[in-house]
Amino acid sequence: MARYTGPSCRLCRREGTKLFLKGSRCLTEKCAIERRPYAPGQHGEGGRRPRKASEYSKQLREKQKVKRIYGLSEKQFRNLYHKVTHEAGVKGTNLLVALESRLDNIVYRMGFAVSRKAARQLVRHGHVEVNGHRVDIPSYRAVPGDEVKVCSKSRDSVMVRASLEFASRGAPVTWLSVDTDKATGKYLERPSRDEIPIAAQEQLIVELYSK
Ligand code: SF4
Repeated sequence: MARYTGPSCRLCRREGTKLFLKGSRCLTEKCAIERRPYAPGQHGEGGRRPRKASEYSKQLREKQKVKRIYGLSEKQFRNLYHKVTHEAGVKGTNLLVALESRLDNIVYRMGFAVSRKAARQLVRHGHVEVNGHRVDIPSYRAVPGDEVKVCSKSRDSVMVRASLEFASRGAPVTWLSVDTDKATGKYLERPSRDEIPIAAQEQLIVELYSK
């Protein structure tokens, strides 16, 4: 299935929670979830009587939520899941770690972009280096020890500077070290589940894909 190109806020409203897809706007009262906290569509779901969600629908919604947070297509998400099923450990945690280890996510977590979408663009346009080599593949899977930096020529771009200023207001994750002045960072260690700040029940995704 092709990548979703419609309004990002609609996805949050569909999932009924903030997915933080639009950077600074997500923290203001302009956020669509604050103003219209019901599902999109002609009548939304505000007027309907709430139905009891089936097990399948809970699993599906959880998968859609996580997939949309990281901005993956169904095919990419499913392929990644099948890759991690061969790894040792808890499948759900492995999936989240694999998602967090994507280069676009790491660039976002390091604060070099205001959203994962902006981070993906930064990577695709060749502004990011890993261990001194330019990498323009957003799905590149980083490993502990990797050093990520925004190329020196791109560091002064308005987009990167605005992102760094925005990011400096947030709390960074403990498994990445960041030097915002030099726009460089290091992937220190594989995160544990507690160190991944995503409110998801990944076990439901495993159950869905195990059917
Ligand atoms: Fe989601 Fe951000 Fe839009 Fe709010 S502003 S609905 S968090 S994308």
